[in-house]
Amino acid sequence: MADALALIKKYVHRLESAHEAERRRKSESFAREAFIHAPSHLQEILPPEFFIETSYGLRFNTRYVDVEPKGPHVARLLIKGVNGAELLIYKTPYATYGLCARIKCPTCGEPFTKEIKTPKELLTILEGKAEVSCPVCHFKKASEVIA
Ligand SMILES: [Zn+2]
Repeated sequence: MADALALIKKYVHRLESAHEAERRRKSESFAREAFIHAPSHLQEILPPEFFIETSYGLRFNTRYVDVEPKGPHVARLLIKGVNGAELLIYKTPYATYGLCARIKCPTCGEPFTKEIKTPKELLTILEGKAEVSCPVCHFKKASEVIA
């Protein structure tokens, strides 16, 4: 019996490692894709200095911003020297790219996302002053952004 159990454990472990490797591969692939394709969709939110025009089109200026893998469908946007907010790039159903922040409700602790559409929304989020309405407890207050 112990042998059979050991085999099951080994099998589950193997499946989980394969799943984890696949997830990592997809996350890295999405981050590369976002680095190349997201800039032209985010230029109305971020300052022009955050982009560089190349012969391949608009790219992020890595002096100010970078993209890191986060998940198979989201990548983390790093703004250099700015901590405290987790900003995510995602792909919309219309093959465009959007920006959102992960926010934690200060009352119930529920994490949720808030879309960012304008430079001002981005600034209020980075300064922790964004007005949010929690989908779970409907608490309304300045957000606590997940670092
Ligand atoms: Zn809440």
